[in-house]
Amino acid sequence: MLWRVSSFFLFQATAAALGWYLASHGNEVLDALALAVLGGYVWLSLDALRGMRLLRWLRLGETGSVAVGSGLWGEVSDRVRRLIRARDRLAIDSEGRLQDFLAALQASPNGVVLLDAEGRIEWLNQTAAGHFGFDARRDVLQHFGNLVRDPGFAAYYGARDFRRDVIMPGRESTSSKPVKLSVHLHPYGEGRSLLLSHDITAVEQADAMRRDFVANVSHEIRTPLTVLAGFVETMQSLPLPDQERQRYLGLMSHQAQRMQTLVNDLLMLSRLEGSPLPPTQEWISVSALMTQCEQDAHDLSSVVFARVKDVSFEVEGVCELAGSSSELHSAMFNLIGNAIRYTPGDRAIHVSWRLLPHGAAVFAVKDAGPGIAPEHIARLTERFYRVDRSRSRDTGGTGLGLAIVKHVAQRHGAELGIESVPGKGSTFSITFPAQRVRPAILKQAVLA
Ligand code: ADP
Repeated sequence: MLWRVSSFFLFQATAAALGWYLASHGNEVLDALALAVLGGYVWLSLDALRGMRLLRWLRLGETGSVAVGSGLWGEVSDRVRRLIRARDRLAIDSEGRLQDFLAALQASPNGVVLLDAEGRIEWLNQTAAGHFGFDARRDVLQHFGNLVRDPGFAAYYGARDFRRDVIMPGRESTSSKPVKLSVHLHPYGEGRSLLLSHDITAVEQADAMRRDFVANVSHEIRTPLTVLAGFVETMQSLPLPDQERQRYLGLMSHQAQRMQTLVNDLLMLSRLEGSPLPPTQEWISVSALMTQCEQDAHDLSSVVFARVKDVSFEVEGVCELAGSSSELHSAMFNLIGNAIRYTPGDRAIHVSWRLLPHGAAVFAVKDAGPGIAPEHIARLTERFYRVDRSRSRDTGGTGLGLAIVKHVAQRHGAELGIESVPGKGSTFSITFPAQRVRPAILKQAVLA
């Protein structure tokens, strides 16, 4: 300011001095005054020029510096430049923070859609684009309600009561592979809303499975229980001859046994699901397992068919298996038991243990039974899935055997294989990985 005032007076003084000089050399005093005023105008013109240069620079928004010299305009230009720089830095910081925030929303496992006050899409993440079949660029500024035509969602959106979510099918949903979405709108700001979508297909499936499981267990238990209750009532109300009484007691014991087997299988399944993985350092003799299975096969066939069936055993090599002895026996005997129960008459059953290249080994049960049609094979390990319901029940089946086998195989890193030709027979196998199989350490060798 000081420079500005002093430069103005300097111009005036110079002009006045020039005037005085001219006056002292014969010119009029008025000329001197006119020159002083002219000096003031020249100063003002130069000053306005600098101001205009600065204004033009501000209007064009140029990033470089502007030549307005020092003094007031110089300071104004300096301060403006500093302010612009600070604003630019702030804008870069804010942009960075916004990008970080959007990246976090992008990484969210939930679908996120930001809607403006008119319900138009302002931004959406890739998960939401997948859920609703949107294009994250093309569909921005489209009305969300126009793009999602599900009637359930339309009613929810129209009612504008967003205290709860709405369940609707996802874009990829088909009748064979349903996809369920939970969609919830959260209003915020001035009429804006945040829409969150969540894929609940797995949760819904688990829920449906739990419901089916409870219904199946209740059904399986109710049948023998009804029969038992009926016999008890008959025996209480009728004076039965001793022979008849014995027959009834036999039938009751059969039903009780059926329930016991079912409960045992259910407990086995829950143990398999809840217990830690079988040890990898506990080695079990394969020959001992096979001998136990042979004995059990003998007992089962004499119970089911009232005679011993032709079950041959073949064990290759002297091996040991790492894992849980009770689980492995249960899985192996479930397969042998099924072969015995489903193979009619005198048709042979062959049980084998073979070594594969690279140290793996396979346990297989081959029968010449009725076989299984291909459409059933993928579902055999589902709980309570039966191809032949009455045959399964008649022979004491629970519908849980293959589910147990699959669980045990998985827990041992093994794979359950099923090959079957309807009318010819089936082969069920469990292939154990090399890490769980080793040649048996002979006692003599250990002693030596
Ligand atoms: P279940 O207790 O009914 O035998 P599983 O889970 O062991 O239950 O077997 C499921 C179904 O698979 C059986 O009900 C039966 O229909 C079929 N199945 C299993 N093993 C055989 C086999 N060896 N031959 C023919 N069908 C079989």
